[in-house]
Amino acid sequence: MNKKLYVISGSSGVGKGTVLKGFMAKNPDFMLSISCTTRKPREGEIDGVNYFFLTREDFQDCIDNDKFLEWAEFAGNFYGTKKKYIKQCLEEGKNIILEIDTKGALQVKKQMPEAVLIFICPPSYEALENRLRGRHTEDEETIQKRLNEAKTEIERGKQFDYQVVNDNLEIAIENLEKIINGERNNA
Ligand code: ADP
Ligand code: 5GP
Repeated sequence: MNKKLYVISGSSGVGKGTVLKGFMAKNPDFMLSISCTTRKPREGEIDGVNYFFLTREDFQDCIDNDKFLEWAEFAGNFYGTKKKYIKQCLEEGKNIILEIDTKGALQVKKQMPEAVLIFICPPSYEALENRLRGRHTEDEETIQKRLNEAKTEIERGKQFDYQVVNDNLEIAIENLEKIINGERNNA
């Protein structure tokens, strides 16, 4: 049985990973898609678990051979979702969530209009900056690039099917659950 695809986007540091971790802990029948990226692994990230870490050359090869359902450049690195991987997960009846940037999300919606696009918003720009800095995973130049991207991401997020504000974490997780359960019941 084919399932719906859920796509989650939001500015870097808004808490996508944290909200999704909470959601997945309560909904173990969902799986997170593993993307490809040319970004270097952060401390603790594992190839094939967090991402498939590719060289620029290998990533370009996948683009040239039309292997991606969507791909985008984000803050100086390339990110993409493999077509074959998603097709296989959907055919196996898995409930799959993509955590990708807004450009990629809109590409998915074009190809798969039944995909459900959910945008995670920060309570304020200041909160976003504090979270991104508080994570201590990026240098100043990267933080600036990501904060710059945040403004366009928030504009593009207006085209999404749903918006969830991540102010109180528990409430954000509950709201995400309500949206996804509502969509599942409508399937
Ligand atoms: P993203 O995946 O969107 O880049 P993360 O999930 O890594 O963001 O979260 C960025 C930082 O913000 C982390 O340090 C996380 O603990 C913190 N954070 C996430 N959600 C909240 C929240 N609701 N309130 C306060 N801090 C949060
Ligand atoms: P990070 O480097 O913080 O892991 O991710 C940076 C941005 O890339 C985030 O907005 C994340 O959602 C996005 N991203 C991760 N994987 C993909 C993907 O496969 N495709 C696209 N378009 N964006 C992705």
